Amino acid sequence: MIKRIDHLAIVVESIEGALGFWRDALGLPVTRTETNAREQVEIAFLPVGESEIELLEPTEADSGIGRHLAKRGAGMHHVCVEVDDIEAALARLTAHGVALINETPRVRDDGTRYAFVYPRSASGVLVELYEKPEAGQASI
Ligand code: ZN
Repeated sequence: MIKRIDHLAIVVESIEGALGFWRDALGLPVTRTETNAREQVEIAFLPVGESEIELLEPTEADSGIGRHLAKRGAGMHHVCVEVDDIEAALARLTAHGVALINETPRVRDDGTRYAFVYPRSASGVLVELYEKPEAGQASI
């Protein structure tokens, strides 16, 4: 079952520059920023209701996000929906002929399991699925 939109991820040249719109003009708070060394990206988190906007700034030009920025410029990167059972969600998508980038879920350091769907199967949008760890199991 789909629970909510967890986050919308937007690629930016510079988080500091992008905050001129998202924080200062639009008025969203920035709750935290973190550097993801594996993905070579810095992320700013701006909550909107039960969801978040994530601003992604590549820390290396030849990273995945860095190449995306060079090729397509700043803009929408992916939408992430939270599900309660990612295995069931992936099985349902596969049954509907959807092309999955990750056929089995990958796991983040905090225990969140995730998988991506190819944009060609999702109206041209990169879609991420999240299953959060049960409360109490998360490391943070
Ligand atoms: Zn994401």
